[in-house]
Amino acid sequence: MAGGLAACAASPGDDDATGRGPGAGDGRPVVLTTFTVLADIARNVAGDRVRVESITKVGAEIHGYEPTPGDLRRAADADLIIDNGLGLEAWFERFVADLDVPHVVASEGVVPIPIAAGGAPPPGHDATVADDGGADDGDVPQRADDGDVPQRADDGAPPQPADDGHALNPHAWMSPTAGARYAHNIAEALAGLDPAGADTYRANAARYATELAALADHLEASVASIPRDHRLLVTCEGAFSYLARDAGLDEAYVWPVNAERQATPRRVAGVIDLVRARQVPAVFCESTVSAEPMERVAESSGAHLAGTLYVDSLSAPDGPVPSYLELLRHDVAVIVAGLAGATSLTGTTTTAPADPPAQGDAP
Ligand SMILES: [Zn+2]
Repeated sequence: MAGGLAACAASPGDDDATGRGPGAGDGRPVVLTTFTVLADIARNVAGDRVRVESITKVGAEIHGYEPTPGDLRRAADADLIIDNGLGLEAWFERFVADLDVPHVVASEGVVPIPIAAGGAPPPGHDATVADDGGADDGDVPQRADDGDVPQRADDGAPPQPADDGHALNPHAWMSPTAGARYAHNIAEALAGLDPAGADTYRANAARYATELAALADHLEASVASIPRDHRLLVTCEGAFSYLARDAGLDEAYVWPVNAERQATPRRVAGVIDLVRARQVPAVFCESTVSAEPMERVAESSGAHLAGTLYVDSLSAPDGPVPSYLELLRHDVAVIVAGLAGATSLTGTTTTAPADPPAQGDAP
């Protein structure tokens, strides 16, 4: 009896806003994505032909997410699962191991950026904090757990090895150009799932790519108007390497990936030194993590903590970034406004005392 009840109660409150398990559908194929950004891209490509849902909810921490039994049931009933790849979803491989559901890696074909490279700074700039926090820095064992474990995919997806043994930066969707690749990959997967809709999916993806290309042009032109020394994007997580590569921005951050966030005093001090040296008017932090370490950077360097950036999750529908395109537009606008620095350093840079060693934010 208990077993029967348990089975009937198999859709607890962890289902998303549809309020229904996939089995209670309307006849349309069900596509499950690992996080909200992918779900939005997939909806734009799919139109009304497919029901798209995200496993993780708005605001969720996606790197170290722990799937629930409800997630597994939804996944088992889905027709297709879309993950980001590049090591974003540390939990995904185990999640799909026992599922007989096809899945597609949205980032396939994107040229990956190793985490330790800290983006692709233009020649002549060597002072990325990413490098400082790299393997040559004995004080910061940043990849102690998995630095030597290349991305694996035992299930038919191509592996994503980094040439140098470093893990790959997973946040490729932060490049509008790469986002178009995501849309293309998703369109092809949907075409395989629902051949009658293939033309629709491809047309939708092409239209979406046009919007992304316009955004990429806008990003590049906007950054080109910023003084060269100020073209440094300082964030909490090193999640902007792909956007920085597109935009011609240098990049620095307090921790490389949210899954192992630790704002060590040495890292924070390195970021402060860099911000001071280049007199960067603004630094940033993201919506899904604590901004406390970056507040220290701002206080000590004289830069402004200029707005919240969105990367790993969309906002709620009535929030500032309910869609992927709006997420990119929002971040570009915040970054450009901050670095253009209408309110730049005033020359009253304080020599703040060194902060006592502080823990990073609690997970
Ligand atoms: Zn992230």
